[in-house]
Amino acid sequence: MRLVLFGPPGAGKGTQARLLAERRGLVQIATGDIIREALKNETPLGKKAKSYVEAGELVPDSLVRDLAENAIADEGYDDFVLDGYPRTDQQAAWLTEFLEEKDRPLDAVISLAVPDEVIVRRLSRRRVHTETGETYHLDHDPPPDDVDPQYIVQRDDDQPETVRNRLSVYRDETKPLEEYYRERGLLQTVDGTGGIEDVYDRVEEVLDDLRASA
Ligand code: AMP
Repeated sequence: MRLVLFGPPGAGKGTQARLLAERRGLVQIATGDIIREALKNETPLGKKAKSYVEAGELVPDSLVRDLAENAIADEGYDDFVLDGYPRTDQQAAWLTEFLEEKDRPLDAVISLAVPDEVIVRRLSRRRVHTETGETYHLDHDPPPDDVDPQYIVQRDDDQPETVRNRLSVYRDETKPLEEYYRERGLLQTVDGTGGIEDVYDRVEEVLDDLRASA
């Protein structure tokens, strides 16, 4: 199965993608995670991406394209869930072309719908483990006691000012892609509010319907 998880920052794309990986054997391809790893290791990509990520801006399309395409090719063009890609018209057009060339089009784009005020609340309380990338929420899903607190940090781009910018970038550049995928009959909108397992059940329902109609 070839999926895109779509939605604003803080919609829960990463959380749901990880569950799909664990429970459905899909490989999670998260361009944000790949970029953060490059920043941490100060690779040439990391150095180029740094100022954009820190400001909550999108990294230029040409830099992200190879990350996504190489990761998909490594998985043999199947059984992946893209998390955070595509985010612009150009990226979506490249992705369509790239997959069509291999005759492996997307099965669905699952858009997680979450209102802005819920997102701001979620992101301000989100914490990540610097080594494992595991995410937590201080109120609903706090780090377990056996996790060393020195590894639990807030992402720089989860600061309120940067979150506001990321949301406005999402509205201007990324949200319009819903129309692109709706026109292609791929868009499935899922209510992204509520508990993690509730949202996962809704995602599974969509996948069951897709399987039934395949
Ligand atoms: P994320 O973890 O998906 O929220 O991504 C963190 C940051 O990485 C974003 O705010 C962007 O600066 C950058 N990034 C991740 N994916 C993309 C993408 N598809 N296009 C452009 N920039 C991206």
